[in-house]
Amino acid sequence: MARKQTSFKWLKIGLLGLLAVVGIWQFWLTPPAYHNEILFTGGDIVTVTQGTKEAMLVRDGRIVAIGTKAEVTALASGDAQQYDLEGKALLPGLIEPHTHPIATAQFGAAVDISGFTHSNRAEVMQTLKEAAEQWSPNGWTIAFGWDPVMVDDLEPPTLAELDALSAEKPLVILTQMMHDAYANSAALKAAAIGPNTPNPVGGEFVRDADGKLTGTVREVNAIGQLFSHVPPPPAGSIELITNMQFGAYARAGFTTIAAAGLVSTAHDQVTMYKRLAAHPDAPVQAIMYGLPNQLPAQGGPQAATEPGAIIGVKFWMDGSPYAGGAATDEPYTVSDLTVQRLHLPPGHIAPLNYDAMSFQQAFETYHRRGYQVAVHVQGERAVEQTLDVVSTVQAAYPNPGLHHRMEHNALITSGQLARAKTLGMTTSFFVDHVTFYGHRLPEIFGPERTAHYMPVKAAIDAGLRVSLHADNPATPIGPMRTFAAAVTRQPHRGGPKVAPDQAITRLEALRAMTIDAAWQLGLAEERGSLEVGKAADLVILSANPLTAPEESLATITAEATWISGRRIDSRKTTAANAALLWEVTKGLF
Ligand SMILES: [Zn+2]
Repeated sequence: MARKQTSFKWLKIGLLGLLAVVGIWQFWLTPPAYHNEILFTGGDIVTVTQGTKEAMLVRDGRIVAIGTKAEVTALASGDAQQYDLEGKALLPGLIEPHTHPIATAQFGAAVDISGFTHSNRAEVMQTLKEAAEQWSPNGWTIAFGWDPVMVDDLEPPTLAELDALSAEKPLVILTQMMHDAYANSAALKAAAIGPNTPNPVGGEFVRDADGKLTGTVREVNAIGQLFSHVPPPPAGSIELITNMQFGAYARAGFTTIAAAGLVSTAHDQVTMYKRLAAHPDAPVQAIMYGLPNQLPAQGGPQAATEPGAIIGVKFWMDGSPYAGGAATDEPYTVSDLTVQRLHLPPGHIAPLNYDAMSFQQAFETYHRRGYQVAVHVQGERAVEQTLDVVSTVQAAYPNPGLHHRMEHNALITSGQLARAKTLGMTTSFFVDHVTFYGHRLPEIFGPERTAHYMPVKAAIDAGLRVSLHADNPATPIGPMRTFAAAVTRQPHRGGPKVAPDQAITRLEALRAMTIDAAWQLGLAEERGSLEVGKAADLVILSANPLTAPEESLATITAEATWISGRRIDSRKTTAANAALLWEVTKGLF
């Protein structure tokens, strides 16, 4: 107990010190000033829809001219800010159409055991052991990123192992794909989960042959039940780290993000998200798809241009390919990886999270209210049931302007893509699976299915408008890594390219991260390309991704962003963050 109080005192002193530093920075480093008129020249101006130009003029937050340097300069007033791109590229601000900002912020604060930073099981267990021995603010140890596909020898932990790591203190490990968690006995007890606890719909507390809990917790509703018992962090701290997370998207080059369901443990997270999105200095334009219980009881979606707008609703039809959760037509491939590491029985076929009738009832409700529905689908059966329901409901209540979304689409077939097109649907691909998991796909799905995995090209060929996403925190933020993955299909560990036929052109990839993502979110009139009349949502990239050498694509960085002509201050030390930090600090005394 004495140790706890001492640590707490140091935490308070540390926070006060940080606050002082932030205050001093604020005093000396005021954010860049807003300029009414900005003239950009000196680098490639990549419009995405109308080729590459020499100059662009922004006035009162809107693009008013694009063209040759002579033409555009002639239109600028005498006191326009002259912005020399110095050979770098100006593009429309990037759009992330499927991310989880609050969860990314929270898991960023958890113990990192991911395959991005660990290469074998011994390293992962050592990190867990050290973390479990340390003091933690809420008395629980929460680790994130358990990844048996990226970490070659990572067998699931037994309950005995989890209890050996931490006998008294609750320990919860969340897998990288967030479809499984492992809890020690102390955590199960604290969450009031026992051998007789019923499984929630769409979730499972896994039991062995004798009916004893194994510590494994499967799928979102069971994991949510477990996490609902984790003591909350200091009041206001999630709001602070979420706003810092918004800044991280801006630093990466994004000007618009859409949360695909708020899946954090934050209290009243919709209100918090909307409040941060509506702040006049928000570093990114944030909108969202809600879980069914996050939507208002009545009425339809808000306009996507409203800060924090709930534009749609999110469902999960199946789970993660790397946790045995993809609802495929054919069983998972039998291999050491699937049987020994993922512990899938030979012949494993994943269930769907909904039967057709219950999904149809839910879908119909939101479709009729005018909400766009975004459905997580990985295996062919998940896609098929989604298409069947959309087809039935669109026939009964036609709304051709409502482009329902399918998310990730690992194993979607060309026939299904054609059907999606006729139903007016749109697809968003998690193409970074190729980057991080591509080298192991043949062991999970065999060579044939690997040969058309994440078929982005086939979707474009079918006439669909596609977007690309990183689904943070499932993978780290890194838009140019995503871009490179779509263009090269190269796994980061080397080895053969994954389904190289599914590579798309650089312009197609850029469209998928700008104008087509904007269209998917209902924002294409306003954002997503550099065109006269559109909002000046901009990013400067260190090189033009349409012409840079292929091997350098993933390393292109964002240098600045603007939203409606407002230069974004994406530092952690903004006035808004200082104010949020002050609220947290006050609450500790
Ligand atoms: Zn997601």
